Amino acid sequence: LIDFSILYDHPISSPCVLWEHCSSHCCHIGSQVRTFDAETDLVILPIPEVEFEYLHRVGSPDEQWLDAKRSFDVEISGYSLKVYMQPCNLGGRCDSGLRPMICRIYPYIPLIDDDFRIAGTINATAFDLVWTPGTSEDPCLMRSAPETARHLGLLNDLVSKLKIREENLEILLWFNLAFRYLEAFKLYLEQSFPEGGDVPLKDRFHNLYLCNKTQLFLAAPEFRSRLDGEVERYRRWRSHGVT
Ligand code: SF4
Ligand code: SF4
Repeated sequence: LIDFSILYDHPISSPCVLWEHCSSHCCHIGSQVRTFDAETDLVILPIPEVEFEYLHRVGSPDEQWLDAKRSFDVEISGYSLKVYMQPCNLGGRCDSGLRPMICRIYPYIPLIDDDFRIAGTINATAFDLVWTPGTSEDPCLMRSAPETARHLGLLNDLVSKLKIREENLEILLWFNLAFRYLEAFKLYLEQSFPEGGDVPLKDRFHNLYLCNKTQLFLAAPEFRSRLDGEVERYRRWRSHGVT
């Protein structure tokens, strides 16, 4: 059984204290595209089925999130996973003990290499991809250079604790699959502005909104093979044993 308490009780899970200075951007991010779609939820949380089961053991998530969740099945090279997409319209007013993994490791998703080092990070949500971390227009203050360095220290510590138990390696696989998804999404966004240059934020969001609707890159062979590669890496981690 995956031990979610390693992550849930880790210092990286402490709620961000900067929310008053950013109007709690990460809990309202969908509001950025409401100009194009008034029905957009504030946040859609990806929560693996096994994590939802854990949330049910520690509290009552269905009393907190009243909006119906959707689910989809991931099938990659013989690895399968059910993921719920849970709308969250609480705008920061949630039970902090029931914040799922994605809220706890925000604002970055790491890519973990074969030796359990952090090989890269990417902004943790697709809607956040319009910003370059640490720039003056980036609303998340946790992506400033000093906060990023602090966060990376915590992420490294978290990875070192998760890798000790074989069951918990699956969490690291999820990080890597999410990283590959966001990486491909970012490329797709960049390709849709071939001229480059200074594109106004509103236009970047409109483009992001359209890219999010189509997600054509999901069928690209290059994207599929990167996902396959992450499942292979997960199997290598497991066959080499944990340290
Ligand atoms: S993580 Fe970023 S966006 Fe979220 S409350 Fe902190 S500073 Fe604001
Ligand atoms: S669960 Fe809480 S921290 Fe996460 S998006 Fe919803 S309100 Fe924000």
